[in-house]
Amino acid sequence: MQLDLDMLVAIRTAPNHSWMNPAERCMSLLNLALQHVALERNTMDEKFEKAIKNKSSLTAICNLAEYKEGFRAAFSTSINQVIDKINNRFSRMKLKGENIITYKGVKKEEIEDSLDIVCQFVQADHTKLNSSMNSKELHKLKDLKDFIEWHGKSCHYGFQLKKCGNCPYCVLNPIRLDDAVFNKLHFLPDPIPDETGQHYKPFDQLYGMMTNDKHRPSFANVQGLKAEADKINRDVLKSGKSRDVILCSECFKPRCVYSNTKMTREQDGILLCIREEDNYTCGDAFPVDSGLFVRESLSCNSEVEINYYGATMRHFVPPCCIYCGKTEDLLDDVDDYIQNLYTMFSVVRPLCKTCRTAGKEAKTWGKKLFAKRS
Ligand SMILES: [Zn+2]
Ligand SMILES: [Zn+2]
Ligand SMILES: [Zn+2]
Repeated sequence: MQLDLDMLVAIRTAPNHSWMNPAERCMSLLNLALQHVALERNTMDEKFEKAIKNKSSLTAICNLAEYKEGFRAAFSTSINQVIDKINNRFSRMKLKGENIITYKGVKKEEIEDSLDIVCQFVQADHTKLNSSMNSKELHKLKDLKDFIEWHGKSCHYGFQLKKCGNCPYCVLNPIRLDDAVFNKLHFLPDPIPDETGQHYKPFDQLYGMMTNDKHRPSFANVQGLKAEADKINRDVLKSGKSRDVILCSECFKPRCVYSNTKMTREQDGILLCIREEDNYTCGDAFPVDSGLFVRESLSCNSEVEINYYGATMRHFVPPCCIYCGKTEDLLDDVDDYIQNLYTMFSVVRPLCKTCRTAGKEAKTWGKKLFAKRS
């Protein structure tokens, strides 16, 4: 919006465990640039150094910058040299004869400015957008969501928007390209296997077609491996060993985190870091040496695990819909449908109104052999 683009195509590499994924192995190559580099930021004023000493995560440092006057500027000066060094290392790399281009992070004020412009067109339910909102909070803004759905295509690795030409925004900011050119612009297609299943179809066969990302490599190739991993970890993936949950950043369903013994402070820290990165998605494994496990054969289509509702967890996690993971708008026990099920079963898993309206049945457990006489 700020640049008045007719179309935006943004893609990213696979988060976490991209090394498992043959089509997405650029990370290991990029790592070459980081060999034999030692990084140290410049020392800040003593009062700032003291304040930052116990801050172990990026979010904690960002929070500090919010309330400690002068810290933001001091930290940015102190870290600048490190950023320059890394940028310099990466920009010396070449791919197919062309140098890699590096960028510096965008300043907070610039993000806020861009969000202000978005707010002018997308009312965003009268909530002011700000740079500290995470993807879950942004997903909740209906106006924004509608705008993106109407203009775009977003999938696991990409986010694309294109002017539609007839909504209020597109009328005020008409398409700048020639009609002939604009009409030929299509969304970037997702990989689709050909008839043999061994290769992907060539780009020009797919360009212009509506595709979805269910054939993405991380989905297909790895499924078998993941089921295998769950089998190896089966002794720890049990109800009594579920210790906490992590939310998927794509589908927002809670996924159980397991460990053999009660989680140590160190493990709490690891989980916190993964949470703060905010890019955990269903099926991602946890770091091998963390002693923490998740069920890896889950995808965003999988239901919430039964262990989530188990005795160890239910004291500290909220009930959520077994199909979509939502914690709001659940059918309560006085609902006729649920009440009726309770006459026949001893356990009825939570179900939300949306999923019930969509025709989903509540999951039940423990059939009562004799119906209560009334
Ligand atoms: Zn439009
Ligand atoms: Zn998910
Ligand atoms: Zn639901």
